[in-house]
Amino acid sequence: MGYDYGKCEICHTHIQERRIKIDFWIRGELIVIDGIQAGVCPNAVKKLLTQKSAKILQNCSMMLNISQKSPG
Ligand SMILES: [Zn+2]
Repeated sequence: MGYDYGKCEICHTHIQERRIKIDFWIRGELIVIDGIQAGVCPNAVKKLLTQKSAKILQNCSMMLNISQKSPG
């Protein structure tokens, strides 16, 4: 189950797994995805996305690109 995120490269604290909220802009639209699984350093607030989480974001941006291709 547990994904090993290793240690933070800044403070060398063990990275903890959290559910975080990510927001990003795609073509002028603010996309917010809650409950993304990510590794977070408790000190530096550094966020590491798992491959799975990165894939979710990728899929979302792809879906948006497709839906915005149709005219209208
Ligand atoms: Zn750190």
